[in-house]
Amino acid sequence: MSDEMKTDTTEAGEDRRSASPRDRAPMPGGPRRKFYRRKVCKVCIGKAKVDYKDADSLRRFTTERGKILPRRITGTCAKHQRLVAREVKRARALALLPFVTQ
Ligand SMILES: [Zn+2]
Repeated sequence: MSDEMKTDTTEAGEDRRSASPRDRAPMPGGPRRKFYRRKVCKVCIGKAKVDYKDADSLRRFTTERGKILPRRITGTCAKHQRLVAREVKRARALALLPFVTQ
């Protein structure tokens, strides 16, 4: 009797467990970025100049508000991202780039 009860409950439990992941599988929002274009570092290919004296080209690596854009947005390689950050900060100190914009 107790055995029957046990099997009954486990079966029910298994059913519920197997059903829930199937329901959850299609996440709200759907699959994101099936094909993503690999970004290349603009500095590596020589398309962007990173120089604290050249504020206009540095502006490409900052947001409208003056924040330095992260690597995942710009695609800059680690080495050049460090360079960009340093040059932007230098340009800020010389008032060529804003720390923040109102
Ligand atoms: Zn690079």
